[in-house]
Amino acid sequence: MRYNKVLENIKTYEAGKPIELVVREFGIASEDVVKLASNENPIGTNPVVEKTIIANASKAHLYPDDSMFELKDALASKYTVGEENIIIGAGSDQVLEFIARAVLDENSSVLMSAVTFAMYEIYAKQMGAKIYRTASFEHKYDEFMEAYRMYKPKIIYLCTPNNPTGDATSKEAVLEIINAVDEETLIVVDGAYMEYAAAKDSKYAIAPNDLLDFPNVIYLGTFSKAYGLGGMRVGYGIAQAEMIEALYKMRPPFNISTLSLAAAIAACKDNTFVEESIALHQEQIKRYEAFAKENGFAYIESYTNFITYLFTDDMDSTKIADALLKRGVIIRNLASYGMNAMRITIGTQRQNDIFFRHFLEVIA
Ligand SMILES: *Cc1c(COP(=O)(O)O)cnc(C)c1O
Repeated sequence: MRYNKVLENIKTYEAGKPIELVVREFGIASEDVVKLASNENPIGTNPVVEKTIIANASKAHLYPDDSMFELKDALASKYTVGEENIIIGAGSDQVLEFIARAVLDENSSVLMSAVTFAMYEIYAKQMGAKIYRTASFEHKYDEFMEAYRMYKPKIIYLCTPNNPTGDATSKEAVLEIINAVDEETLIVVDGAYMEYAAAKDSKYAIAPNDLLDFPNVIYLGTFSKAYGLGGMRVGYGIAQAEMIEALYKMRPPFNISTLSLAAAIAACKDNTFVEESIALHQEQIKRYEAFAKENGFAYIESYTNFITYLFTDDMDSTKIADALLKRGVIIRNLASYGMNAMRITIGTQRQNDIFFRHFLEVIA
């Protein structure tokens, strides 16, 4: 069997290790496994949403409302945009896929920061496009402009706050890049962690509405992080109607499930859970900052629900990650991104206690 040539240089995305794997491989009881690897909401499922999912279970035999009217309506009021400005995806990941398929071919290229969300590269490579990266992981104007002028990419990805580094780019700096790029380049502003950044410092808050004047810009959001619905797979893109219409041509019918749709509608209308999640997060992340200082290593100032610890040569992120895994603590090693670093999702007080204890034992 000969597969499409573009597959030859695509690496399969390595998702955070599931709890089940640690249970199977290391014989650790599932309640003792602490998963701080995929930036899921540590509080759990929003109880209001859980009730909605259960209440809708008897509708599992029905296809969902393919217009997704109620969810679009809820998002439209939340962000004061029109329903014609919204497309829903199975995670914002699926919207990223629609975007790549709508604009890229084997003659095009895309531009992104040195270290950013791995799926940008994968979707672009699926279309045969070339990947260019800036020199640093922060989204620096000069670096983006130099590469933009040189390569004329069809897509520029601006991930703010950025994953897996946790830093953010100010609204002003994002608009500066957008204003300097012509309309032939589509700009993705990926705000998967925007709720955390906006709560920390308003200078980093970008709302979809801030970008709607630009025909070539799309804002992406997700229910997987602050809203606690990673398992339901719902995200969205917000842009001018013309771009949304183009992306709709790439969308399969019924692309999110009946239960996912009901869950996202309920989640979108409930702000309390997100506020509670952010409050817990803000209290707990301070412990991670203090812990790094006490133990003499650096971290990147975080605007997300995770923190990235940076190690010098005397500490090896792969060895530490492997040792933690054997103890039932799953975190994200960033060696595959070329960094001697690890990304840890901020957990509950109890989960974080367990992380600190095992980490100290591992490095001792
Ligand atoms: C988690 C994440 C997404 C999308 O997640 P979905 O679960 O597919 O909505 C998109 N971008 C970044 C940077 C992320 O971290």
